[in-house]
Amino acid sequence: MKEAMRILVIAGHPADMFDHCGGTLFHHIEQGDSVVCVSLTQGLRIHDEVVSDLFRHNLKDYTEEQIAEILVQRQKVKYQEVISACALFGIDDVRFLDYDDEILTVNPEMISKLARLIREVKPDLVITHWPYQADTFSNHHAVTGQLALSAITAAGGVDFKDPEGGAWRIAQIAYMLCPSDTSAICMSNIGKTAYINYYVDVTDVVDKKVKAVHMMKSQKYDIEGLSHKGAETWSGHYGGRVRLPYAEGFAIEYPEVGRTIPISEHRRWIARADEREQLEHAAGLQGMSVKLD
Ligand SMILES: [Zn+2]
Repeated sequence: MKEAMRILVIAGHPADMFDHCGGTLFHHIEQGDSVVCVSLTQGLRIHDEVVSDLFRHNLKDYTEEQIAEILVQRQKVKYQEVISACALFGIDDVRFLDYDDEILTVNPEMISKLARLIREVKPDLVITHWPYQADTFSNHHAVTGQLALSAITAAGGVDFKDPEGGAWRIAQIAYMLCPSDTSAICMSNIGKTAYINYYVDVTDVVDKKVKAVHMMKSQKYDIEGLSHKGAETWSGHYGGRVRLPYAEGFAIEYPEVGRTIPISEHRRWIARADEREQLEHAAGLQGMSVKLD
C-alpha cells in the first residue's frame, strides 16, 4: 500500500488556502493523505468589506477602542467563513498565525514560527505561493512563498530553543499558481512568471470551488456571478491548456526521480483522441451552472 502523505499549505491570506488548491487538497484527503492549512495574515486590510471599505474614508469617526473591537469581530467572521469553506473540501485542520497584513516582509520571527510548524506537522509536501508574484517584494503572496522557502531551510536544521526541535526535511514543494503568477501583471515582474509543470484535474470538484469562494461574504465574494466567473477564468483557463474543463496549476520545485519516464493517461488521451472530442470535453461549463444557496 502507498504510504499516506502529509501536506502543509502555507498561504498569505485566509481564502488562499482553498481558492488556489482546494480541489487538489480534496483529492488528497479522499485518498487518505492528511492536510494542514495555515494562513499567515488575517487578510483584513485588503479584502474585508468593513475594514477596507468603511475605514478607508471614515477612520477619524472611530475611537481606537471601536476600531480594535471591529477588527476583532471582522477577524472572527472571516475565520469562521474560511473554516466552513475548507470543510467543503474535507479540510479540518485550519490554522491562522494572525499577523496584520499591513506590512509583510521576510523576517526571522515569522520564519522561525513557520519552521516550528513544519517541525510539528512533518509534511512530505509543502504547498505555497510562487515567490515571485507581481513586484516580488511588496506582494503578500510572493513574500509568503519566500517566507515558506526560508522556513523549509530552517526546519531542515535543529532548533535548540525548541524542545521538540529536531530537524525535519520535506520531500517536495508545489507552488499553487494563479493567473497573476503565470502572466506578468506589471513591468517589475517581467521574466519572473511561473511555468505550470503540473496540472490537477479538478473538474469533479469545481462545484465545491464555486460554493466555497461564494461563502466568503466578508470579502465581497458573494457578489452575483463572481465565484462562477472566478472558476471559469482561473481553473477554466488552466484546464483549457490541457484539454480539461477545470484544472489547478502548480509549479513543482524539485524534479521527480524514477526508473522510467511516466506518461499520464490524460497525456495519452490528448495524443490520441479526436480533436472534436478533446474540445468538447474542454468546453465543459459545469462551473457556470453551480447552484448557490
Ligand atoms: Zn491572497
